[in-house]
Amino acid sequence: MSTFRGLLLSQTDGKTVATFQDLQTESLPAGDVLIRVAYSSLNYKDGLAVTGKPGVIRNWPMVPGIDLAGTVEESSSEDFFPGDEVAVTGCGTSETFWGGYAQKARINSEYVVKLPAGITLQQSMGVGTAGFTAMQCVMALEERGMAPGGREVAVTGAGGGVGSVAIAILAKLGYRVVASTGREELHDYLKDLGAADIIDRSVLSASSKKPLESERWGGAVDSVGGDTLAGLLRTMAVGTSIAACGLAGGMALNTTVIPFILRGVNLIGIDSVRTKQAQRRAVWARLSRDLPLHALDSIIDVQPLSNVIALGEKILQGNTRGRIVIDVSA
Ligand code: NDP
Repeated sequence: MSTFRGLLLSQTDGKTVATFQDLQTESLPAGDVLIRVAYSSLNYKDGLAVTGKPGVIRNWPMVPGIDLAGTVEESSSEDFFPGDEVAVTGCGTSETFWGGYAQKARINSEYVVKLPAGITLQQSMGVGTAGFTAMQCVMALEERGMAPGGREVAVTGAGGGVGSVAIAILAKLGYRVVASTGREELHDYLKDLGAADIIDRSVLSASSKKPLESERWGGAVDSVGGDTLAGLLRTMAVGTSIAACGLAGGMALNTTVIPFILRGVNLIGIDSVRTKQAQRRAVWARLSRDLPLHALDSIIDVQPLSNVIALGEKILQGNTRGRIVIDVSA
């Protein structure tokens, strides 16, 4: 019987108990691909799970970690072979079946993607769900007609995972990106990623009685929601779109229908979890083309699995920068 190290979350008297322990390969969930995991990552949702907040995990006990990257060990799928380097981003991992905070994972092949040439296992987890979602946001905006050369594009929650990757992609594609952040100490980092300008997060989240304000944005990637999203809606230019993927600033949305009916603004919802295999491959292909690896490397901070609970607290407080990659061997 083979064993591997991992983080297991269980529930006792309604409380989440986290233990690092030896797990058995036989206890892994069903799936046609067995992966030797090298890296996982830390997303906002992982922060919720490892710190025992409700709303993420639906089956107990659970190995959390919504992302994972590693090498195929066994496969009964005709699409994958031992030795293939693969990545999995949020697809029900850490919700209904075991995820990446362990040295092995068994996953259904419909969620597994072969890494595009040139992207390492570690870099793929630098992308992870947050970066994958950032690319989905950009693709959704392009589908609604956003193109370089127009008005500025706003990226909110700029210092976080989704925001950092979105800035790097948009800048590479030739957009003039304005980063909205609450942290002055990140200004140089955000400019290095390609932000042309920076606004304090209080600008967009300021309350206003007006349903519309001066048109500014040619597009927006919003991972903050709440008052920030309401502020974006009031200031979008005619016929433009917002890709809304997150709620780091709150889930309530107080707005009016005026931006939709007088400016034809589109609010596009982005869900990375229920993405089909063909679309997953398309998103990774775009990432390999449009996310500069030197920018990605500056976004990544590699941390051992043993630190993941403390880091989970930090991401919920909005105190992490860019993307945290989790080394599951450490
Ligand atoms: P991070 O924590 O890495 O980034 C969030 C950023 O939001 C922070 O860095 C901070 O940026 C900003 N922020 C934090 N708290 C507040 C606040 N109270 N008010 C305003 N801004 C705040 O998280 P991720 O980038 O991984 O995820 C961002 C959001 O996107 C989360 O809500 C997450 O659940 C969601 N998400 C959704 C996905 C989907 O499929 N729809 C997939 C991935 C993520 P700064 O300090 O620069 O202001």
